[in-house]
Amino acid sequence: MKKIDKRHFSLAKELIEIGAEQNMFVRCYPLLGEVPLVIGRKQSTKVEIPKTKKLALFVYVPFCTGKCSYCFYPKKVNPNQKEIEEYLVLLEKEMDLLMKNFKFKKIYALYIGGGTPSCLSPKQIEKLIKTIKNFPIEEDASFTFEVSPETLTSEKIEVLANKVKRISMGVQSLNDKTLFFARRRYSARDAYEKIFLLKEKSNEFKFVYNLDFIFGLKNQPLEDDVFNWLKLIQEIKPPAVTFYEKWEGMRDRLKIEFRKPKLERIVKLLSIRELIDKRMRQQLGYKRDGLYRYILCPDGKCNYCKTVWEDNFCLALGPSAYGYFAGMIYRNTSQLNLYRDLLRKSFLPVERKKVLSKKEITIRTLVLGLKATGTKGISVSREIEHLIEPLIKKGFLNKIGSKISFSEKGLLASDRISNWIIDNLELE
Ligand code: SF4
Repeated sequence: MKKIDKRHFSLAKELIEIGAEQNMFVRCYPLLGEVPLVIGRKQSTKVEIPKTKKLALFVYVPFCTGKCSYCFYPKKVNPNQKEIEEYLVLLEKEMDLLMKNFKFKKIYALYIGGGTPSCLSPKQIEKLIKTIKNFPIEEDASFTFEVSPETLTSEKIEVLANKVKRISMGVQSLNDKTLFFARRRYSARDAYEKIFLLKEKSNEFKFVYNLDFIFGLKNQPLEDDVFNWLKLIQEIKPPAVTFYEKWEGMRDRLKIEFRKPKLERIVKLLSIRELIDKRMRQQLGYKRDGLYRYILCPDGKCNYCKTVWEDNFCLALGPSAYGYFAGMIYRNTSQLNLYRDLLRKSFLPVERKKVLSKKEITIRTLVLGLKATGTKGISVSREIEHLIEPLIKKGFLNKIGSKISFSEKGLLASDRISNWIIDNLELE
C-alpha cells in the first residue's frame, strides 16, 4: 500500500471507530423530516428582520427531464407547458403573501435552484426572474441560477447573462458510462460542448460560472473521471468549481435506511478528496470557498450558502423550499397539487414549521457554522467544547482559543463529522 493510502486507511478506521463513517448530507438543522406538520393552518407570522441579520432567498424550481439515480430532491419529471405556466403564476402569488408577512429588508443573496431551473423556456426564465425582482434586493446582491447541460442553450444563457451574476452548471461527470448509470440525460461530449459554450458566453457577457462535479457515483472510474475534470479545469480555468462526494442520503431520512460504506470505499473517497484539494490549490491556483468549492476570483463565491450557514435569515419560495428566521424553521409542501390548492386559498404553502429549542439552536449554529467557516473557526461555549472533545482529541477539529474549526484532516470528512456532532449532541 502506498504511503498516502496508509494515512487515509487510518483516518477511515478512526471514523468507523467513532461511528462517523456515513457521508450523509447535512443541508440544514433540525432535520426537515422531523419538523412538525402545520399544513392547513393560516400562516400569519409578522416577522421583522433585525439589522444584524442578512436575508437570503431560495427559489425552488421543481421540474426535471428525468430522475437521476442518486437524487433525493422532489421533482416533477417532464412537466407540460401548462404545469410550468401555472407554477410561475403560483410563485407570484406566494411572493405577494410573503411580502405581507414580512417587514422586509433588502435581499442580500438569491439562489434559484432545483430541480432544473433551465427546464424553463427563455421566456419563462425571464418571467420567473422578473417576478423575483419584485422583492427588494440589494444592488450588489449575489444571484445564482442553476442549469443542466441537457437543457442549457445559447438563448437561455443570453437571457440569464444580463439578469443574474452567477450560473452554476451541474456537470457531475465527464465519463459516458458514469453518466449513463447515473441516469443523466446527456453524454460527456454534450457536457464538454455546454461547458465551452458557458465559458464563451461568460467572456462575452461578463458573468461568472461554476461547474459541479460528483465523485463516488456508481460505475465511476474515479481516477479517470477526476483526471479529465482537472485537465479541463487547467485548460479553461472556470471561476468556480464545486466537487461533491456522493452522499449516502440526506439526514432528513432515517440513517438506518442506508448501508454503511466499506472501509476500502471510505479510504478511496478520502484520498480522492485530498487529491482534488491539492491539485486545485497547489497546482491550479484556486482558493477554497467553504467545504466543497474552489474559486479563482471573489465573484465565484456562493454567497447564498455562506449567508444561510452563518445563521442569517432565509426565505423560501416554491414547492419543497425551506427557510429559517428568528429561531424558526419552515418548509413548503413538496406536493404540487397541495402547493396549488393552498395558494389558491391564499394560505402560504407551509407544510412544516417549528420554533427551535435552545439546544436545537446550539446544534444548528455549530454544525452550519463549521460548514461556513471551514478551517477558520467559530466561537463555542465551554460546555459545547466539552461535548465535542473526542473530535478535538482525534484531530478532526482544531481548537484555538475559544474557536473551533475543521482541521485539514477533519475537512476531508466534513459531512461525516457533522453527522457525528448531531448524533452526539442530540443525546446530551
Ligand atoms: S437533474 Fe438534479 S434535481 Fe433533477 S433528478 Fe437529476 S439530480 Fe435530481
